[in-house]
Amino acid sequence: MRHVFGPVPSRRLGYSLGVDPVPPKTCTMDCVYCELGPTTDRTACRGPFVDVDAILDELRERLREPLRLDHVTISGSGEPTLNLEIGRLIGGIRGLTDVPIAVLTNGSLLTNPEVRTALRQADVVAPSLDAVSANPFKEVNRPDPSLDPGEIARCLAEFARGFRGRLWLESLFVLGMNDDPGEIRLIRNAIEEIQPDRVHVNTVVRPPAVFGVQGVSASVLREIAAALGPRAEVIASPPDDAQSKPASDMVERIVSMAARRPVTIADVTKAIGTSQAEAAKTLSLLVQNKRLTLVWHGETQYYVA
Ligand code: SF4
Repeated sequence: MRHVFGPVPSRRLGYSLGVDPVPPKTCTMDCVYCELGPTTDRTACRGPFVDVDAILDELRERLREPLRLDHVTISGSGEPTLNLEIGRLIGGIRGLTDVPIAVLTNGSLLTNPEVRTALRQADVVAPSLDAVSANPFKEVNRPDPSLDPGEIARCLAEFARGFRGRLWLESLFVLGMNDDPGEIRLIRNAIEEIQPDRVHVNTVVRPPAVFGVQGVSASVLREIAAALGPRAEVIASPPDDAQSKPASDMVERIVSMAARRPVTIADVTKAIGTSQAEAAKTLSLLVQNKRLTLVWHGETQYYVA
């Protein structure tokens, strides 16, 4: 599998070229809502996982193309801070491009001072905080047993104090798990300690790892955002304008995107810069060839690798 994927249109990051420093699906958690499916290697032990020089070689090649990019984003098939060399990876990307570097993380390893130091080199750090008390944390995030949500929230605040980039917290609410007023009050208290630039409030939109898990309604999500304080906003839709010209290796790019998150025809149209009809035709062929599977979530059809 490629280590660099996209650019993908993202609700928060515009056009984002993804960099994936862990194999699928290696994570400290096994969230019920995860778009990548169940975690196959749940661990809190950091390791080399993917060779950083190989990632940088691939990125160097991709950056030769005339891409419209808003961010290079370290994310992908699990928790990126599990890669021991994430600091060297961020430094290496900085040496290749002026495009801002973002890191999407579940925040669990910010309890480690080395991870805090590494992530302070990024322009944007977007950690998750779905729960701060033990039961909803276990229910929603199904973490490695060594993880303590109170300690994670405290270390997020410590990270924020020394970070000069933009800190965007994301809280995702699952119906009946972390959406009760008591937990929302505790998350708000944590936000006041952390003082992020923004809090992105989200819910289950794409097919989740656990069948039957549901998101909260749009109106409840707006109420939660209001309860979380002035920094909180319900995150917006992806940008409408597409990449300017069709990518040449369309099939591999689509499979690579769908391996990281379920995609719709509209996602592919925007990301690849092709017509809706062409995207639909290619996706349908990929399903016939068993490289992708078609799944329904609510009334929307998604393609997953
Ligand atoms: S949502 Fe993120 S933190 Fe949760 S299991 Fe998936 S990759 Fe890991």
